[in-house]
Amino acid sequence: MASIGCIRTILGLIQRNYNKVPAWAEESRIDWFQALNKYDDSEVEEAVRSIVRTRKKLPNVAAVIEFIQANRKGKEAIALEGCGACRSTGWREVAHWYSSRGKLQVTTFLAACDCPKGSRFAVKCWRDVVDKMRDDPFTEAVYYGTHEQPNLTQEQRLHPEIMEKVRERNQAATTGAWQSLVDVPSEPRGGE
Ligand SMILES: [Zn+2]
Repeated sequence: MASIGCIRTILGLIQRNYNKVPAWAEESRIDWFQALNKYDDSEVEEAVRSIVRTRKKLPNVAAVIEFIQANRKGKEAIALEGCGACRSTGWREVAHWYSSRGKLQVTTFLAACDCPKGSRFAVKCWRDVVDKMRDDPFTEAVYYGTHEQPNLTQEQRLHPEIMEKVRERNQAATTGAWQSLVDVPSEPRGGE
């Protein structure tokens, strides 16, 4: 809510910049307060300072309201950009598991999200890319970032052989360096 103090400040600013007599600010105070009191001090001040800086014409209440509303819309548009599935980057993570000459390959890359931000990067979005990969008979699996899980897991991102090495290294780190020097057989794992 715009305070009477804020209205006094902005009218003083206008009065000085447009060579108005101090009585003009006095007389205008109530009208301006009534018209602008539903807006915040900060946005009223921002609007008036910007109008005074950029326009030659004496600002009126209507111009201030118009500025505030346009400013709010602009801020909303920025806030709408991006989404949870792309972590507001506009890009979704995709992992493609496919066989090439009988060997499993895993490629991880970024595809444009279908949110407003992602749509500006590319005409085709992640869904088109994923559908195309799924149609490919050599595809074994496709994983992609979702609203529930924007980041892929290490198991989805990495080739099983690399993942196994990562697991071995993690296990060596947790069991102690002295053990990793000895050839310790890895513990059997269930369900893999
Ligand atoms: Zn997005």
